[in-house]
Amino acid sequence: MSSTALRGIGMTSQRTRERMLTRLSEKGIRDETVLTALGAIPRHIFVDEALSSRAYEDGSLPIGFGQTISQPYIVARMTEILRNGQPLGKVLEIGTGCGYQTAVLSKVAKEVYSVERIRPLLMKARNHLRELKLSNIKLKHADGSMGIPEMAPFDGIIVTAAARQIPQELLEQLAVGGRMVIPVGTDEQVLYLIEHIKTAAGSEFRQNKLEAVKFVPLLGGTN
Ligand code: SAH
Repeated sequence: MSSTALRGIGMTSQRTRERMLTRLSEKGIRDETVLTALGAIPRHIFVDEALSSRAYEDGSLPIGFGQTISQPYIVARMTEILRNGQPLGKVLEIGTGCGYQTAVLSKVAKEVYSVERIRPLLMKARNHLRELKLSNIKLKHADGSMGIPEMAPFDGIIVTAAARQIPQELLEQLAVGGRMVIPVGTDEQVLYLIEHIKTAAGSEFRQNKLEAVKFVPLLGGTN
C-alpha cells in the first residue's frame, strides 16, 4: 500500500472522527444525539480527495463553484439549536452544498428536504448521500428562498447561507411549535433562531439573536 493511501486511512479513521467529537464537546456542543450523528457521517467523502486529510479539522473547506462545506462546529451547533433536545419530524434545509449538513440532519429527523440553487453541486450531493444509503432525504434544484410550499409546514428550517433578511416565504412554511435557524447579514452576520409559538390568539414568531457567524450569501435564482 502506498504511503498516500496509508495517510488517507489514518486521517479518515473512526479515531480521527472521535477526536473531532471531543473537540466539538470542548467547544460547547452538549447534545449527545447531535454528536452521535456527526460521528456517524464520514465527512471526508463530501470533499475532494485532495482535501480529505483535512476533513475532520474544525474548518470550512472549498467544494467548488465558490461555495464551501460548513465547519463541523457550525453544523453541530445549528443542528443542536434546531433539535432543542427533541426528535425532529419534517425538516427543510436551504443550501444543500455538498450535502454534509443534509446527511447529519437525516440522522436526527424523520424526513429531510434540501434545496440547492447550483445544479452540479446538487448532483454531487446526491451521489454522496446515495453512497451513504440515506433514504429519508429529498433534494430539489431551486431558489430555496421560496421554500417548498407544497411540502409545508416544516417542524424545522435550517438556512446554510446568509440572508439579507428573513424570507417571509420561509416563515409561512414553519409549523406552529417549529424552529428556524438562519444566518442574517452581509459583512457582519448573526445567527438567528426564530420560534413559531402558539398563543391564545393564534401564533407569533419570536426572534433570538445567537452568535456571530460567517456564511456564503443566500442568492436569488438558480444556476
Ligand atoms: N449545507 C452545506 C453548506 C453549503 S454552503 C454544508 O453542509 O456544508 C451554502 C450553499 O447554499 C451553497 O451551495 C449555495 O449555492 C447555496 N445557496 C445560496 N443561495 C441559495 C438559494 N437561494 N437557494 C438554494 N441554495 C442556495
